[in-house]
Amino acid sequence: MTSVAHLLADIADIGRDPRGGYSRPVYSIAELDLRAWFVGEATSRGLDVTTDRNGIIWAWWGRPRDGAVVTGSHLDSVPGGGAFDGPLGVASALDAIDVLRARGLSPDAPGARGLAVAVFPEEEGSRFGVACLGSRLLTGAIDPDRARNLTDTDGVTFAEASTAAGLDPAHVGRDPEALARIGTFLELHVEQGRGLGAIPDGPAIAVATSILGHGRWRLTIRGQGNHAGATLMADRHDPMVTAARVILAVREAAAAQPDARATVGRIVPVPGGTNVIASRVDMWLDVRHPDDDVTAATVTRISEAARAAGAAEGCEVDVVEESLSPTTHMDPALRRRLSDLLPGTEQLATGAGHDAGVLAAHVPSGMLFVRNPSGISHAPEEYVSDDDAARGTLALADALAGLGGVALAGAANGRDA
Ligand SMILES: [Zn+2]
Repeated sequence: MTSVAHLLADIADIGRDPRGGYSRPVYSIAELDLRAWFVGEATSRGLDVTTDRNGIIWAWWGRPRDGAVVTGSHLDSVPGGGAFDGPLGVASALDAIDVLRARGLSPDAPGARGLAVAVFPEEEGSRFGVACLGSRLLTGAIDPDRARNLTDTDGVTFAEASTAAGLDPAHVGRDPEALARIGTFLELHVEQGRGLGAIPDGPAIAVATSILGHGRWRLTIRGQGNHAGATLMADRHDPMVTAARVILAVREAAAAQPDARATVGRIVPVPGGTNVIASRVDMWLDVRHPDDDVTAATVTRISEAARAAGAAEGCEVDVVEESLSPTTHMDPALRRRLSDLLPGTEQLATGAGHDAGVLAAHVPSGMLFVRNPSGISHAPEEYVSDDDAARGTLALADALAGLGGVALAGAANGRDA
């Protein structure tokens, strides 16, 4: 039986970033290689693999049908990300199918609901700016035209990148038939904070309680490009100076709100020359808080501070929302069921966004987190031990069976169909 560790070892050289970690943006050569790897692994297990019109890969074990139990995650990464964020959930799903099959369980047995693995594109939003783009398209949470016209840093549109990946962007958008096939969605994911790692001798697995509300905003600061030597300090309209003040305002606004997190992780001076005063700075703001009103108030405060800083420098500031997801409370009945099926597991809220959070507005959705002793994610230090990965597989297999995705072949298991 192939373990999760072996599966992850097979893809360990795909998309390595020479700066550290992995950079696997959606529909890049690296991500397409990972998608091909998944298709190969699923096919070798006898799964029926299709890619839908939103670029979501579905691997059905047995007959595709409505109301099935679906598990899965994503294969794209942030720039310089870890090895586990996304691929752990995909590899664990494949491994869990091996476990269930070895137990004599089948998705086509009487009483079984059916089982599929789904791989979602652009979960991180690291290429086109909108996180969970695949699940947003599937559920109709984003307008197809807006999605098609999203651009990456090279000016390539999502439509162009989709076409280059062999997909037809004309047909992206809400897909009620695909959505109807998900009766329950369960995503296994590396834990991205210190929740489990901080409990000595504690459990390796947690059931998600909620996903923190989060959003992304793009700030554009326009000043006057000029010569670094010939322009007196008093004569400058330097958007980099405004950007520096904005970053400090972001820290102050978030620090003033308990439980708020606000980050500027990406800033691009245009044109970007050592002896050039920038004419424009693009920067991206990520804000998260359990209370969506607090998130909105924090962004308002940052926007006001940014405009004031811009005015003082003679720069113009624009703030545009790129995506916004409310705080999601995972389905209470499913949470209880998962805790019953997986005794000894912890209950944890997460500050990271997930496709399960987007799907939760439409179908009962749950998540399992696997211990990450480093407490670090979206960075190379993200870590899951082989033993914990194996525990994750067993928890996922138990959950998928307990939720009725599979049943004993040749025998009704007494569960209501
Ligand atoms: Zn992830």
